[in-house]
Amino acid sequence: MDIKRIVEKRVMEEVKKYPPFNRALIALSGGKDSASLLHIFKKILPDKEILPVYLNLGIDGFSEKSEEFARIQAEKNGLKLIVFNVRKELGFTIMDARRVYPKVCSVCGSIKRYLLNKIAYESGADIILTAHHLDDFLIRMLKSTLNAEIEELVRFKPYLPRNDNLVARGRPFWRVPESFISRYAHLEGLSFITEKCPIGMKKNIERIRKAIDILAVSENQKNVYLSSLVKIARKLEENVVPFEKAQLKPCSSCGFLSSNVTCSFCVRVKKIRSFIEGKQ
Ligand code: SF4
Ligand code: ZN
Repeated sequence: MDIKRIVEKRVMEEVKKYPPFNRALIALSGGKDSASLLHIFKKILPDKEILPVYLNLGIDGFSEKSEEFARIQAEKNGLKLIVFNVRKELGFTIMDARRVYPKVCSVCGSIKRYLLNKIAYESGADIILTAHHLDDFLIRMLKSTLNAEIEELVRFKPYLPRNDNLVARGRPFWRVPESFISRYAHLEGLSFITEKCPIGMKKNIERIRKAIDILAVSENQKNVYLSSLVKIARKLEENVVPFEKAQLKPCSSCGFLSSNVTCSFCVRVKKIRSFIEGKQ
């Protein structure tokens, strides 16, 4: 089977496992992975309503360029890009957030997750689709295992059902290696940004990626390793985590479900804003 059919078939097989949905938010980053995800959805599921969303994080020399690619990708599929500009809407950028939180990626990740959920919820989307692929899953789950981050290990799943105002999430590329997606994007002639985010602090991630490339002699072996990590995660979930699981309650500030009284998004936004105000 050629690579295009393999990738499309794996996405189709995943999507068939989801409960029925009509309106899907696809998070576009301007890169090859999300461009491929949007392209595949329009190709194999043309009857679904797609909301392509780009979060402009205000990263100098990077966000504007990736937004342009995201717009081209949306328009090529006959869709209008929805842009959420963090600077305009929240009054700060991820560059500002980095001055408060030097390990910016985890804060940036949680801000992105929160905003995508809010946009999906307010626009009536049934599901949020992101382009995390097999390598992302392996790296993230192996990192959590090595650091004994049990909650993290258990929480990172290919599908999370809706929970009140938390919209369902799907990661239909989770069994597709990154190398397949790269080839797919090239074979389909997709336009995408090739530069990486200039402020990412991902040295550890890159080391784990290299270690996995050494350990796995084939893309199939990566899938075998991922199955093993998933097995460990499910066992932990059944036997350990339920006793520790915090009840989700509406955040005291924004109302979205959270395991804390005030959700981490609201806490961090407040801290970043007071930092900026203090500097003015
Ligand atoms: Fe955000 Fe880090 Fe990704 Fe850059 S690399 S967009 S800072 S999560
Ligand atoms: Zn909140």
